[in-house]
Amino acid sequence: MTEGARPVVLAAPSGTGKTTIARRLVSEGDDFVFSVSATTRPPRGGETDGKDYEFVTREAFEEMVARGEMAEWAEVHGRYYGTPRRNLDAAARAGKHAVLDIDVQGAAQIRETVPEAVRIFILPPSGTEMVRRIGLRGTEQRDEIARRLRSALRELSRAEEFHHVVVNDDLDRAVARVRELVRDSG
Ligand code: 5GP
Repeated sequence: MTEGARPVVLAAPSGTGKTTIARRLVSEGDDFVFSVSATTRPPRGGETDGKDYEFVTREAFEEMVARGEMAEWAEVHGRYYGTPRRNLDAAARAGKHAVLDIDVQGAAQIRETVPEAVRIFILPPSGTEMVRRIGLRGTEQRDEIARRLRSALRELSRAEEFHHVVVNDDLDRAVARVRELVRDSG
C-alpha cells in the first residue's frame, strides 16, 4: 500500500447520507476512487452493474469468499455485501484512496484485514432527520424501513470503534472534513 493513499472506510447507519459523501469524494477530485462492492441484493432502479455494485448470485458471492477474495463481507438486511480485495489493490497501484461505503460489521473486519485504512463513522444530524431520510428513500416497503431503523440504532452504538466521527449536518462541510481527516492521517 502506497504511503499517503490509505483506504477510507465510511460506515454509518442507513439515512445518514454516507453514500452521497462517498460519491462526492470521488467526483470532486482524482485522489479518491470508489470501491465497488459485490452484493447479492437486486439492483434498484437507476443502479448500474459494475458502477454502483457488482450484482452477483449467492453462489458466485460464496465462491469469492471461499477463494479469499473479499477483504471483508457481511450479511446486511438479509443480503450479502463484500469488498473485493482487488479494489484495494487497484487503488493502491494507482496511488489513490479507495473509498469503502460499507456497514459497521464490515468496518470491524477491515480493522483486522486492512489496518492502515482510516475508519470514519458518519452520524446523521439528528434522530428525527435519520428517520425522515430512511422513510423518504421511497424505494423500500414499510417492513424494510422498520428493519433499517432497527439496524441503524444497533449501528449507532458502535461509533466508538472508529478513528473519527463526522456529523453530516451539511454535505459540503462533511465532505471537506472527511478529506481533511484523510489528508492528516498521513
Ligand atoms: P444498500 O443496499 O442500501 O445499498 O446498502 C445497505 C448497507 O450495506 C449499507 O450500509 C451499505 O453501506 C452496506 N454495504 C454496501 N457495500 C458493502 C460491502 O461491501 N460490505 C459491507 N460490509 N457492507 C456494505
